[in-house]
Amino acid sequence: MSQQIHNTKNIVENALKNSKLLKQGIVKGNWEKIVGKDLGRKTYVSEIRNGVLIINTENPVILHQLSFLKESIRSSVNDFLGIDYIIDIQYKVRKRNIEDIFENEGEEEEFDPKKIKLDNDYNKFIEEEVSVIENEEIKNRIKKLMEISKKKEKYLLQEGNKKCVYCGIIFSGKGNICINCLNEERKEKISKIFEKIKENPFIDYEMTKKFLLDIKEEEFLSIREKVKERVKILMYKEINDDNEEGFKYYARIFYKLETGIRDNGEIERLVNFQLLKFD
Ligand SMILES: [Zn+2]
Repeated sequence: MSQQIHNTKNIVENALKNSKLLKQGIVKGNWEKIVGKDLGRKTYVSEIRNGVLIINTENPVILHQLSFLKESIRSSVNDFLGIDYIIDIQYKVRKRNIEDIFENEGEEEEFDPKKIKLDNDYNKFIEEEVSVIENEEIKNRIKKLMEISKKKEKYLLQEGNKKCVYCGIIFSGKGNICINCLNEERKEKISKIFEKIKENPFIDYEMTKKFLLDIKEEEFLSIREKVKERVKILMYKEINDDNEEGFKYYARIFYKLETGIRDNGEIERLVNFQLLKFD
């Protein structure tokens, strides 16, 4: 008997795991039901990442309260899902952005699942997915959740939104990558270019393309500017800490970036001249 339950659990778990949108959608869409109206209105689900449920709130006081409720929230969510899916919970104080609101509530009045028809292929897919689940109640619950989630997705796409090719979230705006993934991507590019610039400040667009294949020249130039600003800040930070060697290290990079001068003697003169100003 316990083996059977275990199997069912795996099936349900797999069904949920199959779609990031599905598992997040279930928890986000039922948040108030899961944690209660009071807490549900003061917090919202940001995402579930590798089994970690990330809950955001705009209010630091709530954050303190939440720290005592970790285990209780975790088990409420898992109870609702019918599986031990959430392994940990993280809290963050963060201003709620437009996408979060949009995802959770924005469409609630407009979105009517009855008006959205799923094509037969998808209905067949759901039937197949749930066919192995023996427990009728769980089967129907998963089926409904999958349907609603897909319908919501379809509705949002019909309304002119897009599905992020990286994370699958539905978003509005240009391109086919959501703002979160774009930011992540840019952060990664900046830190890669920063590392390369530390090795060689004269690195140009052609050289950058060798390790960032899809980078555009415009983007490279704007990141180079950004890195230069960062180097400048680090340079002043070092002088503030009275670290002359640290200052010189960043100042050399900065002046090479700023002037394009390759003559080391010339660069040293600029660095020392700047250092004198701080004395
Ligand atoms: Zn994304």
